[in-house]
Amino acid sequence: MKKILFGIFLILCCLIQQAKAANNDYLNEVNAHKLFGNNNIKVWVQNGTQQGTVYKAFLEWERASGNCIKFRLANSEKTAQIKVYFVNQKINPNTQRSVAVGYTTYSATPVIQIITINPFTGKYFTQRQIFGIAVHEIGHALGIMGHSSNPNDIMYHATIPNSIFASNRDYNTIRKLYCK
Ligand SMILES: [Zn+2]
Repeated sequence: MKKILFGIFLILCCLIQQAKAANNDYLNEVNAHKLFGNNNIKVWVQNGTQQGTVYKAFLEWERASGNCIKFRLANSEKTAQIKVYFVNQKINPNTQRSVAVGYTTYSATPVIQIITINPFTGKYFTQRQIFGIAVHEIGHALGIMGHSSNPNDIMYHATIPNSIFASNRDYNTIRKLYCK
């Protein structure tokens, strides 16, 4: 009897593990396309006080991908494959139903625009917040075109992200898209 109970216990454990594994990424929930080869994706960031922070945000995705994705600085704005611009514009949150503080558009190459002023306070975003916004937008630029439904993921849809670092689910998603 004990053996049978132990067997049932093992089967249950396996089932729970499998259910957990199924939720370990959100690639199936989003529209995602691999837009680049893995190596030497050329990036350009507009000059400014937030430039270094955005370069660090690119490194966050290198780390998240287990270094299977590698960025490098483009020689010029023209030759860049991902471009990042800063917009010092105030948005009135009362006149907009949803407020975005970053945008990524896909023309020939992804172009990221980061709004540097918090629309709720009218003050400049801190470097930490700019970092979180940049990591989120770079995720879009890499081809994750939708949003995760889990607020702990950097690709969750939020004006100011909960977490500023890629989560395990972000890691698994980007690795599935680029590294397998
Ligand atoms: Zn987004």
